[in-house]
Amino acid sequence: MGLKKGEILHIPDKIPLKPDEQPTIDVFASVIEPKLTNTLVKKLSKIAPMENYRHIKRVWKKKKKSVEEGEGGRDFQLVLILCLAGENGLLPDDVAELINAHQLSPFIAKVHKYAAVTKEEWIEQCKLWPTSFHPPTYNIEGITGFNEEDSESVFHFMKMALEMTEVGGEGVVNAAVIVDPSVKQVIATANDQTCQAISASIVDDGNEESYSGVACLYPWNWTEQNFVAAGNIDCSWHPLRHAALVAIEQASSRDKRLYPAGSECFEDQSIDQEDGTMPKRQKVDLVKDEKVMKAACSNGGASEGGERPYLCTGYDIFVAWEPCTMCAMALVHQRIRRIFYAFPNPNCGALGSVYRLQGEKSLNHHYAVFRVLLPEEVSSKA
Ligand SMILES: [Zn+2]
Repeated sequence: MGLKKGEILHIPDKIPLKPDEQPTIDVFASVIEPKLTNTLVKKLSKIAPMENYRHIKRVWKKKKKSVEEGEGGRDFQLVLILCLAGENGLLPDDVAELINAHQLSPFIAKVHKYAAVTKEEWIEQCKLWPTSFHPPTYNIEGITGFNEEDSESVFHFMKMALEMTEVGGEGVVNAAVIVDPSVKQVIATANDQTCQAISASIVDDGNEESYSGVACLYPWNWTEQNFVAAGNIDCSWHPLRHAALVAIEQASSRDKRLYPAGSECFEDQSIDQEDGTMPKRQKVDLVKDEKVMKAACSNGGASEGGERPYLCTGYDIFVAWEPCTMCAMALVHQRIRRIFYAFPNPNCGALGSVYRLQGEKSLNHHYAVFRVLLPEEVSSKA
């Protein structure tokens, strides 16, 4: 039986542009004699610096097509960017002077306005004019690829989350698994506890509707529920108990159990506000508080079995559906390292579908986000 290979796709911080649709700007360029390169580059960096376009290479060693060969015996020519071409299409006086002095023949060339975010963008850019490419500044394992062992572990935990999405024939809900990747150990597992599984079973007709129990997909569904008709509702059920939040709660109780001496350290730190916004002052205070708490807990908070983890620092979370904004913000506060989801959330997805919280510069923590396409054998079950 041939199996489709699984894939782990990084969801970048910014909306990726189609490689061939990236915006360009016009510049004046000229072919130059190699021996003039240093002199000209030095002068131009003073009279026409391109500070906002550091990704653009000033000199292009352009390979000639074989038919053009012969001129000076070289199979390349050097092309230099003289300056940006302003809206009026005129050369600045000092650049014009330099052109006259060295008998250059300026022409207009197009270069890419923004630095490439992905390798694909970069390859496309270099067809027009060479640029430099720096992958994301924060270095989180996996962004540049997973080795076979890590991929297998990612597929394994995602499979675990997907298997938890079905609740005893009552429909499908979201599920979350928090993992410590350093030891490949499950820290917490949970699914939605928002009563929606009950309504899901009522509307289940085999199409999209059967996902109406997934809290992150339909965060407002509970307002339409008939609580009286639904009957025996456990007190652990609540409209805001989305799978990720319940998993965070589980992780926190685990901490309290394993590190009782420091249990007072992290009271009520899991969720700040349901819409994820915080007044500025409160945010500053929180950061300060965290520092104080971190210090307090490292001074004897840990009992046996190593140091007490700081919230979910260093942990990964696997969720079946892309988290909503509330869950995604809670995971920022928890200092989660990486988020893996299997299905996008076109209604309320905060990590690629509707918003991109992972690229929000004003936040004080950033995680890396991945979409997992499971190997066929596994995904056909979901
Ligand atoms: Zn949610």
